[in-house]
Amino acid sequence: MKYSVTLLPGDGIGPEVSKAMVRAVDFVTGGRIDWEPVVAGSTAVDQGLSPLPDEAIDSIRRNRIAIKGPLQTPVAGGWRSVNVLLRQSLELFACVRPVRSMPGNTLARYQGVDQIIVRENTEGLYSGREHEVVDGVVEALKIVTRDASRRIMQFAFEYARSHGRKKLTIVHKASITPLSDNLFLDCARECERKYPFFQVEYLPLDNLALDLATDPTRFDMLVMGNLDGDLISDLCAGLVGGLGVVPGANYGEGCAVFEAVHGTAPDIAGRDLANPIALILSAELMLRYVGEADAADHLRAGVERLLVSGESLTRDLGGRANTSELTDALLGELDAVAGEAKGAARRPARGPAHRQPDSAR
Ligand code: ATP
Repeated sequence: MKYSVTLLPGDGIGPEVSKAMVRAVDFVTGGRIDWEPVVAGSTAVDQGLSPLPDEAIDSIRRNRIAIKGPLQTPVAGGWRSVNVLLRQSLELFACVRPVRSMPGNTLARYQGVDQIIVRENTEGLYSGREHEVVDGVVEALKIVTRDASRRIMQFAFEYARSHGRKKLTIVHKASITPLSDNLFLDCARECERKYPFFQVEYLPLDNLALDLATDPTRFDMLVMGNLDGDLISDLCAGLVGGLGVVPGANYGEGCAVFEAVHGTAPDIAGRDLANPIALILSAELMLRYVGEADAADHLRAGVERLLVSGESLTRDLGGRANTSELTDALLGELDAVAGEAKGAARRPARGPAHRQPDSAR
């Protein structure tokens, strides 16, 4: 089946990593995705448009699914963060970031990390409520509502159930902001009662920071507010090999937007140096979301083989290849995975004579 996906190549390294991602996804899906490219961020402003043109939002609303490179908010013009605006315009309330140690990735500080970060995406300190009370005194409001807290908790517990997770760690700083954080925690407790088969712990943010640095493997799923989620996602990326390998997804009621955790990386933009794996793994999440499990497995297998080979890796992964060389090598690995799958399908199935009795299985 063919379907359309909105593609926002983004700013900075966005176009480079998006090009690599499209090549890889086209390979594993046999070109069954119609990419609908739209611009946003600084690229849109450079073309005389607003940072988040209606055309981009309309395209995502129509297709219900999008994948994007990082967007840069133009410094001049007093624009609000375009990434935040996009999440709020589409009510993308849940941000999910799976953080997993990758095989062969020698730069990873830890092996055996396999955790999912769920971040509330619409409120907290990202509500944009900041004002000067009097000269020299500024107030920034952290908004927490029962509706949004319930919604993210319900999402997180349900995500845990459907993805075979066992334990949720709910992160807070209730000793400092008791009203807002206890509202968040109360909503978690409501869910805990509805899902009694999960192990649930409530952990202050500072304890989490220490535990992540000493033993990140003890976490399964982390649920937290907007700002905490932003910081902790980058920290966790550092545990498993850096921003170049951690994917992400933003889910709303009607649509989903997939994106890597990293930003526009202006220091390496336009130089063919960026690592596209994070966006490629975001595409893996997208393929799973639309039910293309075989294509997603294929993509994942190719990436893992590439990392294990240790060849043609970008500088952030300790290699010397550029983006294009890494992508060529990945396509080679994807081809090899496809070849092996065909070979396995051609091999004759074992006859009944070879089957072990039930008791021996
Ligand atoms: P922004 O303001 O858009 O968040 P930033 O530079 O502050 O940009 P990131 O883009 O996340 O933040 O980059 C942080 C560091 O990680 C930079 O040194 C950047 O080069 C590096 N980096 C980020 N993404 C990648 C990538 N995909 N490949 C290689 N290096 C990356």
